[in-house]
Amino acid sequence: MLLVEDDDAIAESLVRGLERQGFEVRREGTGEGALRALAAQRPEIVLLDLGLPDVDGYEVCRRMRRDSSVPIIVITARGDEIDRVLGLELGADDYLVKPFGFRELVARIRAVARRAGGRDEPTEGPIDLGAGVVLDTRAHRVTVDGAEVALTRKEFDLLVLLASDPGATRTREEILERVWDAHWYGPTKTLDVHVASLRRKLGDPTLIETIRGVGFRLRSPDGDPHAAGTTS
Ligand code: CA
Repeated sequence: MLLVEDDDAIAESLVRGLERQGFEVRREGTGEGALRALAAQRPEIVLLDLGLPDVDGYEVCRRMRRDSSVPIIVITARGDEIDRVLGLELGADDYLVKPFGFRELVARIRAVARRAGGRDEPTEGPIDLGAGVVLDTRAHRVTVDGAEVALTRKEFDLLVLLASDPGATRTREEILERVWDAHWYGPTKTLDVHVASLRRKLGDPTLIETIRGVGFRLRSPDGDPHAAGTTS
């Protein structure tokens, strides 16, 4: 999902909370950045603060709706009724006035995502990844042949990212940005170390496939593990 919020403190606490709920969050602090991200990232849902430093939030909302059918939840300090009406008329799907409770936000996100048939909603139940591996994002648990395995936070996040779209290759840059930090400049060897450790813990080293020079992907559940010539 795309969070458009210029206040660093608010944005950081929202991102942390939403990631704990299993959402993948990308944050933008400006209206122009948000519009670019919408086009490039195609998020499943947008949380839009109306008070932005460059483009007026209403205008951002209007332009997003013109270009996309993405569900938009407007977040704002402006609580007047006329603002609510205007926001909804411009195409927002829902409206939350600051200060709001985090639980209420998550409930609204789930409701909007459900209505939109969104794929960004965390899986409610355990998902079978093949090779006896079951991932339960809600319970934050991974089992192999029924036995729970202890993963580190990063290993778990890495698996969740790969499992969010089995068969899709995630580039090294994307993984580092999403699992580690938006501004990770450390050695990318870290990623290989985590992948190796995750493979060891999951038992079947072919479950996570290496795409040489590009990144990694989770073996597609209906795919032939030997069909992918680039795996190692
Ligand atoms: Ca703001």
